[in-house]
Amino acid sequence: MQVQEMAKKTVVDIDVQGKKVLMRCDFNVPLDDDCNITSDDRIVKALPTIKTILGGGGALILMSHLGRPKGHRDEKMSLAPVAGRLSELLGREVVFADDCIGPETKAKASALASGDCLLLENLRFHKAETIKDKAAKEDAQLRQAKDDFAKQLADLADIYVDDAFGTAHRDNASMYTVPALMEGKPRVIGFLIEKELEFLGETLSDPKRPFVAILGGAKVSDKIGVIESLVRKVDRIIIGGAMAYTFLKGRGKSIGRSLCENDFVDKGQKLLEQAAEANCEVVLPVDHHVVRELKPGVTYRTAVGDIDPGFQAVDIGPIAAQKFKDNIADAKTIVWNGPMGVFEIPPFDEGTNDIALAVAEATDNGASSIIGGGDSAAAVKKLGLEDRISHISTGGGASLEFLEGKKFKCLEILDEK
Ligand code: AMP
Repeated sequence: MQVQEMAKKTVVDIDVQGKKVLMRCDFNVPLDDDCNITSDDRIVKALPTIKTILGGGGALILMSHLGRPKGHRDEKMSLAPVAGRLSELLGREVVFADDCIGPETKAKASALASGDCLLLENLRFHKAETIKDKAAKEDAQLRQAKDDFAKQLADLADIYVDDAFGTAHRDNASMYTVPALMEGKPRVIGFLIEKELEFLGETLSDPKRPFVAILGGAKVSDKIGVIESLVRKVDRIIIGGAMAYTFLKGRGKSIGRSLCENDFVDKGQKLLEQAAEANCEVVLPVDHHVVRELKPGVTYRTAVGDIDPGFQAVDIGPIAAQKFKDNIADAKTIVWNGPMGVFEIPPFDEGTNDIALAVAEATDNGASSIIGGGDSAAAVKKLGLEDRISHISTGGGASLEFLEGKKFKCLEILDEK
């Protein structure tokens, strides 16, 4: 069965009173050089599930990753600042455990009373968290390491809650091995994942048409699977960002020094053929903002059609932006993942901003819009358009894999209604 067809039990379907509840969150917050949290968005979003558990009399143990410490302790990626911020937001103490496993953590978890909250240190300080199941299957030592690590986490609690959609497509120990070891105990989802499944699932099961996908960002290779799947589902695919140049090169255009994945040029052309067979229109940029060297303050010019050698495309041009907007205006379902250019360096954010506004306007006119991916979401937030988008997914990669129709095994094993 597809994940999107399953109705999963949530925290409101179980009794947490007096129980130890282990909850996987996504507290992968941005930190500055002094380890101050620069956006507490992810902590705020987790509050409804956290408050429901604490309000229901559960003793809550929170776990998350932050950044990519690659299995080593790195104070710059400690979750300690998150414990501080969460305490402020909840108006009560959140105890912090210096390690996510070990005897001291076990003691802290055992000491929790009903309504108490404990946050464990970054899961990824341990290599075992990210050992892939495929590697573990082939190597007994790795399997043992992953199982031992997961067992220590599983033994902390009576109930497992998953509210980390951003990592739902991964087989990390905390996402899959832990709930697998907790078989027989309640294993449910939180409100964030519930909303993701509802939105993404509904959109896919019966999309209002025209159904338009907008894809951008750096790499075609990351998005091959989702494009292959989308051409069979959507009426139009708009492709911008660096990934467009791999397609344009295949169509015989000169792309200058624009980013291009040469290994994927042929594959890109095959995808365009598949799209044509499926009656899915593919809209590529016809003009581009180009620079000799990418740096802040550099002057750019607009290239229509071919791009001269020595120049690199950094954003879609005005004709492309208009064409993209026209193709979005009448959409009734929209999924968008990835920026149209190097949006971090203004003015090369213009194309991305245009698209964000067009998606918001289409939503005002009745479209259902879903934005996945940190960059597109950031563009929408920067422009203050969040309230004019139907759903901003908390997981970029996960939402893409979901749209691709992949099964998430970490969700499949959780309890159904
Ligand atoms: P992704 O993680 O694949 O969604 O890619 C996001 C990144 O793509 C952003 O950091 C953008 O700066 C980058 N990007 C988008 N368009 C271009 C372009 N035309 N040239 C270089 N980088 C780009």
